[in-house]
Amino acid sequence: MQEPVQHRPSLTDADLQFDRDHIWHPYTSLADPLPSYPIVAAAGCELELADGRRLVDGMASWWAAIHGYNHAYLNAAATEQLQHMSHVMFGGITHPPAVALARQLVAITPASLDAVFFADSGSVAVEVAIKMAIQYWVSLDKPQKNRLVTIKRGYHGDTFAAMSVCDPVNGMHGLFQGAVRPQLFADAPELTPEQDWQQQDIASLTQLLEQQHQQIAALILEPIVQGAGGMRFYHPEYLRQARRLCDHYQVLLIADEIATGFGRTGRLFACQHADIEPDIMCLGKALTGGYMTLAAVMTQRHVANTIGQGNGGGALMHGPTFMGNPLACAVANASLALLTHQPWQLRVHSIEQQLRARLLGFNRYASVADARVLGAIGVVEMQRPVNVAALQKRFVEAGVWIRPFGKLIYIMPPYVISRQQLERLLDAIEMVVSDTD
Ligand code: PMP
Repeated sequence: MQEPVQHRPSLTDADLQFDRDHIWHPYTSLADPLPSYPIVAAAGCELELADGRRLVDGMASWWAAIHGYNHAYLNAAATEQLQHMSHVMFGGITHPPAVALARQLVAITPASLDAVFFADSGSVAVEVAIKMAIQYWVSLDKPQKNRLVTIKRGYHGDTFAAMSVCDPVNGMHGLFQGAVRPQLFADAPELTPEQDWQQQDIASLTQLLEQQHQQIAALILEPIVQGAGGMRFYHPEYLRQARRLCDHYQVLLIADEIATGFGRTGRLFACQHADIEPDIMCLGKALTGGYMTLAAVMTQRHVANTIGQGNGGGALMHGPTFMGNPLACAVANASLALLTHQPWQLRVHSIEQQLRARLLGFNRYASVADARVLGAIGVVEMQRPVNVAALQKRFVEAGVWIRPFGKLIYIMPPYVISRQQLERLLDAIEMVVSDTD
C-alpha cells in the first residue's frame, strides 16, 4: 500500500466563492459578506495565506493563541492523547486529562476557587456561571434573588443569558432586547488605572446594589479590561470596592476572565490587580493555548456546597455532550504547563514596554481619540468608526493580521512575538493612523 501523500489543503477561487455564498462568518451578513482571507497554515506568530504570503499575527486569534501556532509541545500533547482517547462522555466517567487539568486550575487560580465545571466555550461558561448564581439563591430559599447586575459597555458572549448582560445600548445584541431577560446595568467605570481613585466612579453600582440587592443573584463583570464592549481599562479600586459591595449586600461576584485570564494583563488573572477573589470565575480562550474549544467555571467551596445541599435538588443541571473533552483537556494541561514553566511575566512585560514606548505616542495624531496599553494589549481608539474591510486589506498588504472593529484598532499578540514582529505590527498601525490624519 502506498503511503498517503502529505499535501497541504488549499482553496480555489470556487471554494472562496462557495464560502461567500454559504458560510456565515462571525458578525457578518450572508447578503453582504466581508472579505475572508484564505489562511492555509499558521506557525509561531505568523499566519500563511494561500498565495504564500505570511502575516504577523496581532490578534492571537482573539486572545487565545498565547504560545503562537503549531507549537511542538502542544502538538505532542494532542498527538499523545489521540493514542489513548479523543473523546468519551463525562457522565459517570472521569479521565486523567480532566483530573490533571482540574488540579492545575485549582492550583493557579485564586486560592478560594476550588471547584471546576468544564464548559465548551466562553459563552457557555457564562451561562453556567449565571445558572450557578441563581441556583445558589434558590438553594438558600431566596428564589427572588434571580437577576443579574452588570456594568455598561460589558461583553460576556453571544448566547441568551450572556447577551442579557452585554451592554444593551452600545453592544451588538440590541436587536434581541425584547427577547432577553432585562438585567440591571450600572454606569461603566470611567477612571483608568493611571488616574487617582474617586468614589464617584462606583456610585452608580453602589446605588443599584443598595436599592435592589434583594432581587440580585450576582454581579458579573470583566475585571480591569472591558473587552469587546470598547477595549477600556479601568481602575483596580473599582473592582476592590465591587467585591466589598457584593459582600455587604449578599450578592455573588462573577468574574468573567475569559479574555483576561492566563497572563494577558500582566497578572495571571486580572482580579489579582485588585487582590480580590470572586465567588465564581469564568475561563476560556487561552485555556487551551487557542488550540481547541474549552472553558471552565471555577467556584468557591461555599458556592459548590450551597448548590449541592440546597433546595434546588442539589444537582447542577448542565452537562454538555463534549464536557471535559479529553483531547481539549490534554492540550489545556500542556498549555498551562508551558505558561507556568516559562517566563510569561517577562514576555508580557516586555511587550507592554514596547507597546508603551511606541503606541502611546500615537495619541499625537489628530485622527486618534486615545491610545492605551495594558499588559500585552495595545489599543488605538480612532475619532471615527473605521472601514473594517478597507483597513484589513491595508494591513494584509503590509504583512500583518489585525482586525479592527468600530473605532478600535487593537492588538493582543501571542506572548512569544519577537521585538521585530511587534515593530511590524506597530509600523502598520502607524501607517494607517497617519494616513487617516
Ligand atoms: N466573555 C468575554 C469577556 C469574552 O471576551 C468572550 C469572547 N469574546 C466571551 C465571554 C465569549 O466567549 P466565546 O466566544 O468562547 O463564547
